[in-house]
Amino acid sequence: MIPRGSESRAGTRISLVSVHTAEGATTAASLEHYLDQPGVEASYHRLVDDTQVIHYLPDEVACWAMLSGNHRSVQLCFTGFAAWPRAEWLAHDTMLRLGAGVAREWCARYGIPAVKLTPAQVGANASGVMGHWDWTLGKKEGTHTDPGGNFPWDVFIGYVNLGGPPPGDGPSGIPLMNYGETSDAVRHLQAFMNRRFHSYSHMLNNPDQPLLETGYYGDSTTAVIKAFQRRVGIIGGDGRNVGVQTRAKLFEHGFRG
Ligand SMILES: [Zn+2]
Repeated sequence: MIPRGSESRAGTRISLVSVHTAEGATTAASLEHYLDQPGVEASYHRLVDDTQVIHYLPDEVACWAMLSGNHRSVQLCFTGFAAWPRAEWLAHDTMLRLGAGVAREWCARYGIPAVKLTPAQVGANASGVMGHWDWTLGKKEGTHTDPGGNFPWDVFIGYVNLGGPPPGDGPSGIPLMNYGETSDAVRHLQAFMNRRFHSYSHMLNNPDQPLLETGYYGDSTTAVIKAFQRRVGIIGGDGRNVGVQTRAKLFEHGFRG
């Protein structure tokens, strides 16, 4: 099933990480709410603000953010403005780091070079990281100029290549969880998965229902965590526990226990 506001990639290989700014919404949650409105024909895979990354749509679909560039792109949207001066961007350091974490993961998963492309390189169909404006200039298509001429690409690409732990308390603040356990931690996990990965409920016996937020780690939670593990590339994950690797990935995706 193709989620509303997106379309099939029609077999196109993912070769671009595309960066956008929301030009209005100042939190990822409010951007998500806006995109959910009927009649809004725009979408991004990830929505990034100063505190979290929202998985808005799965990478498998082409989001609607960059005209004929959609099929080849994975797209992230910062809750910023193209008019921001460099100093304003640098004041949103956590936002830059969270976005860089998303870009790093995409570059690794899809074999995309973690380099900033020039408009000419975009025009020549190179693979790399770029802004919507680079598409506009390189392909001579559309008018959008986000994320703006002051976006600190040097800092952002540096963060993409640096790696290192995400900002904040770190994933060790999230308890490990196991099949058969009943706890508040499991209930928080279930609520998080429903909020951020609602499409995974198709793994359940009754695909129309969300994961029940009972706090019990049973077969349904196992199925959803297994789908998550597969998505983030945890080899051999069977969904029956949240170990160190899965915990780290959940943290990267905004789960805070
Ligand atoms: Zn854009």
